[in-house]
Amino acid sequence: MSDFKVFEYMEKHKYEQVVYFYDRTTGLKGITVIHNTTLGPALGGTRIWNYESEDAAVMDCLRLARGMTYKAAAAGLNLGGGKTVLIGDATKVKSEAYFRALGRYVQALNGRYITAEDVNTSTKDMSYVHMETDHVVGLEGKSGNPSPVTALGALYGIKASLKYRFGNEDISKYTFAVQGAGQTGYYLINHLVELGAKKVYFSEINPKYIERMKNEHPEVEFVNPDQIYSMDVDVFSPCALGGVLNNQTIPQIKAKIIAGTANNVLLDEDIHGPMIKDRGILYAPDFVINAGGLINVYVELMNWPQEKALADVKLIYDRLLEIFEISKEQDIHTQLAAKVFAKNRIETIKNLHDNYIPKR
Ligand code: NAD
Repeated sequence: MSDFKVFEYMEKHKYEQVVYFYDRTTGLKGITVIHNTTLGPALGGTRIWNYESEDAAVMDCLRLARGMTYKAAAAGLNLGGGKTVLIGDATKVKSEAYFRALGRYVQALNGRYITAEDVNTSTKDMSYVHMETDHVVGLEGKSGNPSPVTALGALYGIKASLKYRFGNEDISKYTFAVQGAGQTGYYLINHLVELGAKKVYFSEINPKYIERMKNEHPEVEFVNPDQIYSMDVDVFSPCALGGVLNNQTIPQIKAKIIAGTANNVLLDEDIHGPMIKDRGILYAPDFVINAGGLINVYVELMNWPQEKALADVKLIYDRLLEIFEISKEQDIHTQLAAKVFAKNRIETIKNLHDNYIPKR
């Protein structure tokens, strides 16, 4: 018997809906969580993972869906937070029928939830989902690869952080250590080099990406993955994994700013958010600075031109400055300040909508 009490958890964190589904034709087993739809339909990708247990799957889905609520709210989008997890081995379960079955369950939610690709799912998989529902984004030939937009958003976030911390956002005055040169890290390094960064270091574990960087930007210096935290630079930019800011790494960090694309970088927000603040390091909250990809799919959803996405990611700059001010005024760590900022927007729009007017 499971010890995890889903309803108690839903009540505590104000979830709207948890849907379990099983398709007898394909064996598809999944969970969709809708956390909050105050601002609009819940949007969140579908990930496939071989979870150890059903409890682990539902916990992950609950956590990720709630994260999407804050991310969309802080990005100024009219979207709520949701997520889908499919339980299984991604190398074995995938087929056209499997994803069409998912599409039918998404369709059954009638637009309250919109899905997209995520870990172990691709734009091709989503094209099968699309055969059964219109409530899917990130399709082939539409908004395209989100990574360049995410990296551009991170660049604006870095500029806001530099402005706030040092009073000057000119990239050419500063030094950078970028962890990960895969998709987003690569595009971010390109921007930094283009803007004449004083020095850029990078770490990577994939030889293909190390080689690419050496060929394209020989001036960008490779450092071993375990040395990246202690580099004597102005900005540390995590663009690889989650959980990298923890008891072991935070004391090593010499940079005055942490700002990158990676998700869930604080191993434990309540412990490591304050620890970073106490060390006098300015941390750009992950879900705010890396929202470019979400802004990109929102633009697709609204059928707006791609230029709109590039214009909207610029606003990450202003949002971060606002969040840094909240952190200062309330004397709280910046990740918490970002949540205050996101919750304020949800609450304000909710109150505004209480004032009834007929629909246009
Ligand atoms: P990616 O897989 O293309 O790049 C990550 C790179 O990090 C890989 O090349 C990998 O080899 C490298 N890496 C792994 N472990 C490492 C280590 N210990 N030291 C140094 N390098 C290491 O992924 P991505 O799309 O660039 O995403 C990076 C992060 O940004 C992830 O946390 C992702 O969730 C987040 N993110 C990405 C997007 C997007 O648009 N792609 C949007 C929002 C958030």
